[in-house]
Amino acid sequence: MASSRLERVEESATIKAANVANKMRQQGADVISFSLGEPDFDTPKHICDAAADAMYRGETHYTPSAGIPELREAIAEKLKTENKLDVNASDVLVTPGAKQAIFEIMLTVLDDGDEAILFDPAWVSYESAIKFAGADTVWVPTDPYDGFKPQNLEEYITDKTRIVVVNTPGNPTGAVYDRSTLKNIADLAIDHDILVLSDEIYEKIIYDREHVSMGSIEGMQDRTITVNGFSKAYAMTGWRLGYACARPDIFDGMLKIQSHSVSSATSFVQYGGLAALQGSQEPVKEMVDEFKIRRDILVKGLNDIGIKCQTPGGAFYAFADVSEFGDGNQISEKLLVDAHVAVTPGSAFGESGKDFIRISYATSQERIKDGLERIKTALV
Ligand code: PMP
Ligand code: GLU
Repeated sequence: MASSRLERVEESATIKAANVANKMRQQGADVISFSLGEPDFDTPKHICDAAADAMYRGETHYTPSAGIPELREAIAEKLKTENKLDVNASDVLVTPGAKQAIFEIMLTVLDDGDEAILFDPAWVSYESAIKFAGADTVWVPTDPYDGFKPQNLEEYITDKTRIVVVNTPGNPTGAVYDRSTLKNIADLAIDHDILVLSDEIYEKIIYDREHVSMGSIEGMQDRTITVNGFSKAYAMTGWRLGYACARPDIFDGMLKIQSHSVSSATSFVQYGGLAALQGSQEPVKEMVDEFKIRRDILVKGLNDIGIKCQTPGGAFYAFADVSEFGDGNQISEKLLVDAHVAVTPGSAFGESGKDFIRISYATSQERIKDGLERIKTALV
C-alpha cells in the first residue's frame, strides 16, 4: 500500500516516546515524562487575547499564502534588529509551524540523489524531510566533549552536497555554537557553494550566552535559509506557527508548496504571533529563568548518579551519556518500565546517540527531583 517515499521514513521518535508515556498515564501509571520537547507553560495571556479578538473580529478566512502582511513585516523587523539579517517582509514566509518550513525547504532545494549534511546527533525530522525529498543524508560526527561541534566537516562534502543543517541552540544536545564555530561552517559553505538551513527555533532559550544567526555572518545572507517559530519561545506549540526567510528563488519554491498543501498558517493564529512579537517579552524571560534553574538541578543530579552530562547552553534538553549503565535504548526501556520515567533514546537522533538519552526538562522542579530519585533507584 505505502509508497516507497513513505517507506524510507520512520515514525517521529520524539512523538512516539511521548505517546507511549501518555498511554501509560491514561492507564493510571504515574509517569514522569522527560520525553517531549515542549514548554510546560501556558501561552501568555496577551497572545491568547489577540488571537481571540481576531477570531471574533472575523479574521477567520483564508489569508495570503505567505502570511498576513503585518506579521511578515513584524518578523522582518525582528530579524533585522535582533538577528542582524538584511531582510524585507517580502523574504518572510509564515508557515504552520517551523516543521512545515523545514519540509518546504528540503522539497524546494533537494533533488533525487543530492546530499544533505546533518551533524550527528540531530533532531529527528530533518532526516525525514531529506528522505521525503529523495535525497541522501550524510552524517558528520560531533564531539560531545567539544560542545557537539562538527568534526572534520570538509571531509564529508562532495560535489553532490547541496545543504547543511545547523541548529543552535540545538535539539537534542542543548549545545550553543559560538560565532567562530559558525564562521568555520560558513567558510566551507561559501568555498563549496552549499546552502545552510539555520534552525533557530531555540534562540530565546539560551543561558548566559549570545545567540548568533548564521545569516548574519559575512557572505552568508544569500545562502542561508533561516527558520524560526513561536512554539518554544512563547509556549505556542499547539498553535502551529513558524516562519522562514529565504532568498527569492527558494522563497518562491516554498510558497508554491505551501499554497498547494496547507494554503497558509491559520488566520487568527497569525494575529497571536503578531502580539507575541510586539507585546511584552517578560514572559519569555521568566520562562528562561525557570528553565535555567531546572537545567542546573537536572545536570547536577545526573552527574551525582554517575550519568555523564555536560551543561547545555540552551534549549531545554540534556543529552546524557548512560554508557556506564547500558546503551541508550536499554536504559530508556528500563527507566520506563522500572521507574515510570519517560526519556527519548539518543539513537533516535543519529548513530552517535546510541549511548545517550535525551531528557527534556520542560517539566516542574519537583517532577525533575522526583525523576532523578527514580532514575537513581532504577540504575544504581
Ligand atoms: N526545529 C527543532 C530543532 C525542533 O525541536 C522543533 C520542535 N518541534 C521544530 C523545529 C519544529 O517546531 P514547530 O513545528 O512546532 O514550530
Ligand atoms: N521538537 C520537539 C521534540 O523534539 C517536539 C516533537 C517533535 O516535533 O519532534 O521533542
